Amino acid sequence: FAVLPDILRAHAAEQPDKIAVADAVSTLSYAELDALMDRIAAALQRDGVRQGQSVAIVASASVEYAAVFMGTLRAGCVAAPLAPSSTPESLAAMIADCGAPIVFVDGENAAAIAGQDIAAKQVRLDTEEFRDWLAPEGAKPVPVTIGPEDGFNIIYSSGTTGTPKGIVQSHRMRWSHIGRNSAGGYGDAVTMNSTPLYSNTTLVSFLPTLAWGGTSVLMKKFDARGFLALAEQHRATHAMLVPVQYQRLMAVPDFDSFDLSSFVMKTSTSAPFSAALKADIVARWPGRLVEFYGMTEGGASTGLDCTAFPDKLHTVGQPFPGHDMRLIDDDGNEVPQGETGEVVGRSPAMMTGYHGRQQATADAEWYDKQGNRYIRHGDIGRFDEDGFLILMDRKKDLIISGGFNIYPVDLEAVLKQHPAVQECTVIGVPSEAWGETPVGFYVPNTGIDAGADEIMAWTNAQLGKTQRLSALHAIDELPRSAIGKVLKRELRDRLAAEAT
Ligand code: ATP
Ligand code: MG
Repeated sequence: FAVLPDILRAHAAEQPDKIAVADAVSTLSYAELDALMDRIAAALQRDGVRQGQSVAIVASASVEYAAVFMGTLRAGCVAAPLAPSSTPESLAAMIADCGAPIVFVDGENAAAIAGQDIAAKQVRLDTEEFRDWLAPEGAKPVPVTIGPEDGFNIIYSSGTTGTPKGIVQSHRMRWSHIGRNSAGGYGDAVTMNSTPLYSNTTLVSFLPTLAWGGTSVLMKKFDARGFLALAEQHRATHAMLVPVQYQRLMAVPDFDSFDLSSFVMKTSTSAPFSAALKADIVARWPGRLVEFYGMTEGGASTGLDCTAFPDKLHTVGQPFPGHDMRLIDDDGNEVPQGETGEVVGRSPAMMTGYHGRQQATADAEWYDKQGNRYIRHGDIGRFDEDGFLILMDRKKDLIISGGFNIYPVDLEAVLKQHPAVQECTVIGVPSEAWGETPVGFYVPNTGIDAGADEIMAWTNAQLGKTQRLSALHAIDELPRSAIGKVLKRELRDRLAAEAT
């Protein structure tokens, strides 16, 4: 069983000068990365950080970030990349939860944990302090033996629907991702990683790129034109992007003037990805487009090659080999073929449980008649006749109005087609008459004059009687997580606050 830090050492010997990671200001070759990993691992050992302990990082993506992540692994420690956009209280809670004795922060994000009572030692990543903290040049850590079940990283779930939960992913789980995503030929890959490094969405692309000896190009902060220029400059072959990024990229007026002919494959995951947007990308951006559906907990994942299956763009594809996905009803029984149910899945990438959260773990589990353990995804879907998964929505976002199930994504798809609508979302709000009723929010397109009433009438005319919006609000910006997911709970809270 080869673990990533050892694989990186082998790359450093075989291709010392090849660029492993680049950001906007600097690069690290495989030899430089390997040497830095040694110095970081040795410094962790010097500080008394023991094998198996967590090392927290609260920073924007950079080559130093990548080195600390990998150096942590070389010391046999568990990387804990945390979302700097979390509240200070939540960050302090996560640092305490994972038990990290040390936390790396950068200038941009130092304020995110300032003023919190944090026991962990803090090291600034982007100043002299980091250079001073490192073990001297040429230092070697005491070698550690890492097994497949040892922790690789702890990732906190996005918190889209509630409090983030820690998910420990082992070296074995990580390896299953790396093997799976290698299909595009990662050895020659130049991968654009412009989503934050604490997200599984990024890691399922960033880690395989390094494992296969490719180059990962990191972006601190995404902007559409900057991304296109960087991709052109690096002759990028791969990109992992989320739907809202694709939306912004395809809206760049001179998108077609960028030379993207080096692309082999682009991937998307993490949020609903409209069929129209997929078709636009397939038509205008060279290389394959592949969509993944899955969760950090690693229940099971699906993939859709959008280029090869133009008729299936309304689906998220088929489960990966070795990934078993079933659909269950509210009573926990499997639904008949072709019917709708909650997704449950099992795979080699499955978590053992949420860190220190027995009840939440039990709530997330489902067992089949043979006693096999599955993870509940919290998403509702159905399989079409060819075994492609049609994802309806998150179970928590489902609107039950007058006894009918309304899937917000269906309403969003109609609303989005109005020319005056740039982005939109639909949530359920409590209603005395119906239990719940759908309410829409949209970001107006500049230059197109249409009021909310007109857009709502237009939308409702195309919806079934039981689906119609009862209100529509214009809004400057949709609240989104740092990985681009719409935070519906924030909109629900906002409306509830206004109502009182
Ligand atoms: P939390 O569990 O903390 O509320 P989260 O569910 O957003 O946050 P992740 O594990 O990052 O945390 O995301 C997994 C979820 O993202 C899936 O359950 C699904 O709802 C959504 N998702 C992932 N891929 C896709 C996709 N291709 N299309 C639609 N939704 C997707
Ligand atoms: Mg989730």
